[in-house]
Amino acid sequence: LLASLSILRDLPCVTLDGHRISLWVNTGLQADVDKAQQRGAEGIGLYRTEVPFMMSSSFPSEKEQMAIYREQLAAFHPNPVTMRTLDVGGDKSLPYFPIKEENPFLGWRGIRVTLDHPEIFILQIRAMLKASEGLDNLKILLPMISSIGEVEHALRMINRAWYEIKEEGIEVPMPPVGVMIEVPSAVFLTRTLAKEVDFVSVGSNDLTQYLLAVDRNNARVADLYNYYHPAVLHSLYKTVKDCHAEGKPASICGEMAGDPVIAVLLMAMGFDSLSMSSTNIPKVKSMLRQITLAKAKEILDEVLKQDDPQVIKSIINLELSALG
Ligand code: PEP
Ligand code: MG
Repeated sequence: LLASLSILRDLPCVTLDGHRISLWVNTGLQADVDKAQQRGAEGIGLYRTEVPFMMSSSFPSEKEQMAIYREQLAAFHPNPVTMRTLDVGGDKSLPYFPIKEENPFLGWRGIRVTLDHPEIFILQIRAMLKASEGLDNLKILLPMISSIGEVEHALRMINRAWYEIKEEGIEVPMPPVGVMIEVPSAVFLTRTLAKEVDFVSVGSNDLTQYLLAVDRNNARVADLYNYYHPAVLHSLYKTVKDCHAEGKPASICGEMAGDPVIAVLLMAMGFDSLSMSSTNIPKVKSMLRQITLAKAKEILDEVLKQDDPQVIKSIINLELSALG
């Protein structure tokens, strides 16, 4: 098994008819980085920067953040490292920054928090930019975007941080900035958002939760939390098409990207990259290497005509098992 894993690690993720797609990893800890490299990740599609914040007993300083970010950037250099700005609130809380709300998932979370706290946001961007000096493989990703104003506001602050460190004598190229599509309103704003930024990345964990009105962590309604739901699949497809219509790349970094069966559909939709936990990389790669893009598109066409998540699941599994 180990031998076959290491052979697979060095093979590209390419379909039988030559379609290439990038497989990226989701990280939080430095330990995730080492595992990801053993498993052939081609970059980091989502670095959840809240993880080091959660492990700290107070807000990490600019210097501390810089050191942590530099490790992630250096490990994957020259490949891209997509750093998401602090995404707290909802299910993720910091012991030293409590947020008490009735409906935390509909409350103060993600970009909403950091736009209200420019000192936290700008310090984090400064740390990211400084960490990227000489490496130049940083990408910045904004979480929980639900309207264009938030993006414009965040971009102004990123610019401010960039000028601040330039004044201090550190000049780095302006990194590509992207938005997460994880709130239903953002699906419908993809074209406008994509015009403003360099890339988009779908957060299907939250998008599924918000589209279906099902708490992603509530066991009682776990059966209803289903990414085979046609509303989820149609939203993803629309997002990719709209993003590509603006000439920008689209990625997906929710858990579903690591499901090899679903990865076939995501590739057929046109996602340029899939980002997942490192354990799933070999499974997804070996699946995609055994299929043609043409066949994957046929399955997608068939699936998108269906209304029932169960039927959708059966169709894909049947089609894939027929391939052997
Ligand atoms: C998502 O919502 O799909 C996502 C990737 O982000 P997180 O799971 O950290 O909310
Ligand atoms: Mg999310």
